[in-house]
Amino acid sequence: MILMGPPGAGKGTQAKLLEQHFQVPHVSSGDLLRNAIKQKTKMGVEAKRFMDRGELVPDAVLLQAIEDRLQQADCRTGFILDGFPRTLPQVDALCAMVTSMGTKIDRVTSLRVPKEAVVKRISGRRTCHDCGAMYHVTYDPPTTPEICDRCHGELYQREDDREETVMARLEVYERQTAPLLAAYRTCGLLREVDGVGSQHEVLERILAVVQGNA
Ligand code: AMP
Repeated sequence: MILMGPPGAGKGTQAKLLEQHFQVPHVSSGDLLRNAIKQKTKMGVEAKRFMDRGELVPDAVLLQAIEDRLQQADCRTGFILDGFPRTLPQVDALCAMVTSMGTKIDRVTSLRVPKEAVVKRISGRRTCHDCGAMYHVTYDPPTTPEICDRCHGELYQREDDREETVMARLEVYERQTAPLLAAYRTCGLLREVDGVGSQHEVLERILAVVQGNA
């Protein structure tokens, strides 16, 4: 399954809940890149300058890492993609990857959230340095400010979650990623879900459309 939606739509949060529900891994291109940055790999160094500006990382830097991840054993029974594909060439690359794995994409779910809500959500978002868990200073604060409830790691604001960069990321989404929705709609794969509400409400809506009850 592919989970789509603008930055701040709640894809990461929902993908983690879906991972538990379906017992298949959450594969986030953003997390793969952030881990590479943390580990200072060649991919991380190359990706960082694009990410800090809110721009897309070139396919030459990212695609192999996605393919390697999808070929790991835990993806054999399925996976939830978050943040990939983001462009039409990436859709083609993904098609080639899943075909060579002998599988296919069953569903594309897109979370709809108004722009003003997205900006509020992202600018208050805090991420754990160690385990990647996400919080929101107002909507989902940690028990102790700036400390992760799960692993006691330090929380930080992603460089690309600052307000100036958020606007650039939204613009990139509208220009490069939103057109994918029309393509998925045409081929009957797309299910759109209202992304406003509690984590649980949004999860229930996703499960209803994925399981064909809505
Ligand atoms: P995300 O965590 O999905 O919001 O991604 C954070 C940043 O990582 C994006 O703003 C891009 O710079 C980069 N990125 C993540 N996924 C992709 C992708 N599929 N293609 C290109 N760049 C990506």
